[in-house]
Amino acid sequence: MPPPLAERFSRSRWLWIFSRLPFILFVGGVALLLWMSDRADREERRTTLISDMLWLEQNLRFHLTRNEELLGRVDLAHTANSKGFESFARTLFGFESGLRQLIWLDAEGNIRQAHPATMNPDLAGEATAGLPSRQSFRLAQSLGKPVYSSAYPYYTNDWQFEVHVPVSREGRIVGVAVGVYRIRDILGDSVPWWLAERYRISIIGDAGKVLGARSKVESEITEEDYQVAFDPPGWGLALQAVPYHAPRPIASMVLSASLVVLAMMVLWNFWALRRHVLRRQTVEEQLRQEHAFRKAMEDSLDTGMRARNLDGEIIYVNPAFCRMVGLPATELIGRRPPMPYWADEHLDETRAIHDRVLAGDGPVEGFELKFKHRNGEVIDVLIHEAPLIDARGRHSGWMGSMVDITERKQAAERARQQQDRLQSTARLVAMGEMASSIAHELNQPLAAISSYCTAAVNLLRNRAPATEVLPALDKAVEQARRAGRVVRRIYSLARRSENRFELIHLEERVDAALSLIEADVRQKGIRITLDLAAPVLVEGDPVLLEQALFNILRNAVESMRNTAADQRLITVKLICADGYALLTVADRGCGIDAAVAAKLFDPLFTTKPEGMGMGLAICRSVMENHRGRLTFEANPEGGTIFRILLPMTPQ
Ligand code: ADP
Repeated sequence: MPPPLAERFSRSRWLWIFSRLPFILFVGGVALLLWMSDRADREERRTTLISDMLWLEQNLRFHLTRNEELLGRVDLAHTANSKGFESFARTLFGFESGLRQLIWLDAEGNIRQAHPATMNPDLAGEATAGLPSRQSFRLAQSLGKPVYSSAYPYYTNDWQFEVHVPVSREGRIVGVAVGVYRIRDILGDSVPWWLAERYRISIIGDAGKVLGARSKVESEITEEDYQVAFDPPGWGLALQAVPYHAPRPIASMVLSASLVVLAMMVLWNFWALRRHVLRRQTVEEQLRQEHAFRKAMEDSLDTGMRARNLDGEIIYVNPAFCRMVGLPATELIGRRPPMPYWADEHLDETRAIHDRVLAGDGPVEGFELKFKHRNGEVIDVLIHEAPLIDARGRHSGWMGSMVDITERKQAAERARQQQDRLQSTARLVAMGEMASSIAHELNQPLAAISSYCTAAVNLLRNRAPATEVLPALDKAVEQARRAGRVVRRIYSLARRSENRFELIHLEERVDAALSLIEADVRQKGIRITLDLAAPVLVEGDPVLLEQALFNILRNAVESMRNTAADQRLITVKLICADGYALLTVADRGCGIDAAVAAKLFDPLFTTKPEGMGMGLAICRSVMENHRGRLTFEANPEGGTIFRILLPMTPQ
């Protein structure tokens, strides 16, 4: 029994969840892995950026500090003339110091020496009072240590700042050495190429204004930047690095791509699997319904079905078959001959037909067998065997359908017996009929014999010659033979216990019947015209047919009692058409009115005082017994025509 709907639903929901869970976990895991790897990359880049920046900041600080020291060591001998100063400046510039100009100011702040000499004082930043910055100069003088000026623009793009280094001799400040840095050049000199490959390095001022940068024009920068204070010189300057978009490492990209592809494949697989499962479920459902339908059909069949493989082993039986033999399917499936349901008395016959079927030589039109029910009852079955063809079109065994015909056979037997009884009754009645007519008929030859013998006796008494006596005796002998024939007929009829159908010539039976009625006909002055086709072969009982014909002829004779003597005519005609023989007996008698016609074939119906009313009833049953028909119609010339129709046997 299938589980209740609610249970099936909740089970299928859990199944749904469990079937998707690994997939969800897998995709989630892949996404998490990708995200974590990306995060680790970013963090690593950030750490590298910070350490690179710290390194750069230290490097610059080292440069500036070293330059401060070098500037502080300016010799007065150098400052005395321009040549000496120039050589000092060149030495200083040679250290990749980032310095672009060197100025020597005396204690009053006047420019004594400058290299290079050309500077545009109009472009000075906060030192509006001129270059170099007065404020820085004074601060340096008063503090007695290096002071940096704020940055100021130089021409349009460039920014500069100065370092004022006070120079003292014997405890007295004798002047200030001013170093002018161009921000762009500091970066150009101090930022190594490998760093510049990775980051855009800039020095920014107030409000994030870029005062100088070292950058690659062709590369795109990222959003993440890092700043450190550019100290010295201070004044709010900061060193900023913005990493360029670096291509991700190939291995990582391949890994990520493979993961994504893998996830897609899993997704596709899952989708395909799901589709397959759904399709399978639909097909299974259809199969289940089909199976249930077929099972119901099989179970409701009254016909027993039994399948055997090519070795004769039972591989399937339906419930009707089990009921038929009274054995459960479990006891039948797998059995080999002799089968438990074979009737013991018919074992050989059953085995023979079984072998014939297995050899492919079974009767196509089916065959009858006797089977044995478990309770010992023997049943008659009608079997049809057909080859069992499997799904691949191979002949895999034999399928037999069995119909229990026990009832039918018994009924047929009963009907046969009843028919037999009826026939024997009919024969008895006919015999009674015949006995009276034969008695009547015997009367004539006996009377004739008596009169012929009396005549012969008289002739002998009168000593008549033998030639006169002999004809009378001959006639007596012939009449005695005729009586003998009548007696033999009665005897053969009385001895008959069953139908003796044989091939007979109908025209001969008509002749025989006519000979039975001959004397009567002659006595009543009736003419008979005969028109017989010959030979007409039918299969039947000659005596019964003869008696029936005799009865019809006798009725015809009796119907003409009141017919004028010259009108007394019986016409007997035998023709063949469409495989039937048609025998008509037409009289010119009283005819049959509607009231008589309605009861004509009823047993015991008669209009004659001495009649029995059985003749036509028997005639009709005899004809039907011969698969023929007996009808009648009015004779257009007066009287009645009786028609006998019998199937002919092909010659
Ligand atoms: P039965 O001859 O003993 O009367 P049948 O069964 O042979 O019994 O006939 C039944 C009745 O049918 C007859 O009594 C008669 O009235 C009618 N009958 C039969 N044959 C003819 C015929 N050829 N013409 C007129 N009536 C007939």
